[in-house]
Amino acid sequence: RAKLNGRDQMVMFNQSIRDEAQERDRIENSLRMAEENGELEVYYQPKIDMVSGRWVGAEALLRWTHPELGRVSPVKFIPIAEECGLIGPIGEFVLRRSLAQMKELIDEGHDLTVAVNVAPVQLRSPYFTDRTLGILGESGYPLHRLELEITESGVMESPVNIEQQISPIRDEGVRFAIDDFGTGYSSLSNLATMPFDTLKIDRSFVMSMAESEDRRIIVQLILMMAKQLRMQTVAEGIETETQLAALKEWGASYGQGFLWSTPVPFAEFAAKVREQASENALAAKSEPSAA
Ligand code: C2E
Ligand code: MG
Ligand code: MG
Ligand code: MG
Repeated sequence: RAKLNGRDQMVMFNQSIRDEAQERDRIENSLRMAEENGELEVYYQPKIDMVSGRWVGAEALLRWTHPELGRVSPVKFIPIAEECGLIGPIGEFVLRRSLAQMKELIDEGHDLTVAVNVAPVQLRSPYFTDRTLGILGESGYPLHRLELEITESGVMESPVNIEQQISPIRDEGVRFAIDDFGTGYSSLSNLATMPFDTLKIDRSFVMSMAESEDRRIIVQLILMMAKQLRMQTVAEGIETETQLAALKEWGASYGQGFLWSTPVPFAEFAAKVREQASENALAAKSEPSAA
């Protein structure tokens, strides 16, 4: 293959920047219409109690199907939504939709919680607290069954401000989780004073546990620290029985991962919850009663 000269390389470089900018503009423009066009859907990934194995809730994860581009990953479009000011309405859509859907199951008597992601940019809006409280109030959803997730790096950008923003919501019984823990740079003293109820260990730690004793020790230390701070723990991205066994032994409260289920549409999540509940009811009936 002929070697490209410097000028050709520069042309290609400029072209690839233009392509990227064009794609970004395209995503931004279609994202403005995505909700209206019915292209947004909330998927649910179950959260599992490590001791009982029971499905105790779900994390709500946004899915966008663009008419031409097809499925666009949230890893790609959420940062764009944050930059162009669309994350506010999109975040509110996810919150409303997930509260309404999970309320259906809770009203049927299922003992469930839902976790919804909040982007750092949403928290920086002076309207975040009031608007969120408004949505929660209108939803009729039992607020102690809601958890809001904020990434560790998001929290560290402005810890004082975040505390002021979330305290009035927390006072209503909503729990807060620190997401992707281990990928940001929070100091331990910060973590101890912040109003978080749950710590979610990032998937990268769970993934690398098999690699080295050092990684395993770090995961164990995070779990011990959370316990000392009286926080619940969720291990993200559990894919193998080996990971599950270790995390269970080290006292992680909950797990999430492809080992149980990928994120699925609400109907699929609901069907599985109902199926499990009727299996449990049958099992309870066939057991001799304690009395
Ligand atoms: P996250 O909040 O940390 O969500 C967990 C991500 O890990 C999800 O990716 C989930 O599908 C994936 N995951 C779960 N278990 C496994 C596993 O066992 N193996 C592997 N390989 N992956 C697993 P997803 O749905 O693509 O979302 C990526 C990120 O996009 C989320 O990370 C979150 O930061 C953001 N996101 C998604 N939905 C929303 C939303 O409604 N609002 C905001 N602000 N961010 C969202
Ligand atoms: Mg999350
Ligand atoms: Mg996470
Ligand atoms: Mg993560």
